[in-house]
Amino acid sequence: MSLSKKSKKFYIIFVILIIVVIVFIIFKNKKDDSYPMDAVASVVKTDTQKVEKVVENTTNTNPIEGYKVDKYYNVVPIDKDGNKKVVLLTIDDGPSNQSENLLVILAKHNVKAIFFINGMHDKDYKGVIKKEFDAGHAIGNHTWSHQNLNKIKENVALKEIESNTKLIADITGNKPKFFRSPFGISSEFSRAHLKKENMISMNWSGSTKDWEKSARDKKVFVNNVMKTLHDGEIILMHEHEWDTNSLDDLLTEIEKKGYTFLDPKNITK
Ligand SMILES: [Zn+2]
Repeated sequence: MSLSKKSKKFYIIFVILIIVVIVFIIFKNKKDDSYPMDAVASVVKTDTQKVEKVVENTTNTNPIEGYKVDKYYNVVPIDKDGNKKVVLLTIDDGPSNQSENLLVILAKHNVKAIFFINGMHDKDYKGVIKKEFDAGHAIGNHTWSHQNLNKIKENVALKEIESNTKLIADITGNKPKFFRSPFGISSEFSRAHLKKENMISMNWSGSTKDWEKSARDKKVFVNNVMKTLHDGEIILMHEHEWDTNSLDDLLTEIEKKGYTFLDPKNITK
């Protein structure tokens, strides 16, 4: 009987102890929780606000972040939520007697383009490539003398690419980032070489078709681009007089459709 009383006492003390421990733990947890949880919440809130602010700033001041060339003929934002409604303007085969006129029209629309130049023309239009570069355009390598890379020997192709790279580097202070094959035709050798040189190669997915006689008409010229206009389109044009005559209209029409012209500076490998 006394043993049973003892064990009953022990049992009650044990239960009380358990209750005390539980209350202590609950109290402690509550105390621990209340401050840090608020702190965590406030940090989370602040971070969210910060992130929202950053996104907002990015949207307001510079909707164009990083882009890459996709499949050699389109530009796409690296961030899947980036602005896809962009186009890239590329102007081939200069410098020419039209380059400076083109610069005026591009400046009017605040459009930055890539001038894919052939070094052989530089001697006839000294200082023009520098003007293009100083106006914020990119100078791309279109080889020295516009030969079909698939029809010339490797050592000739190498010279065609590298002599043009050297000219551009001498004028701009940097090796060109962009390359376009003459006629859009590359070779196994040129592809391997450009990869080694870490250059970004591109062709096009939209064109003024300015080599066709019909495109000398302003409406046809503009419509050739508008019929295929799509997100990320890389547009090809040259430096003919009729390109100069139609460029203002072309840029206006593209802007009306809500597209932004991608600054080549935003394109990365
Ligand atoms: Zn060309």
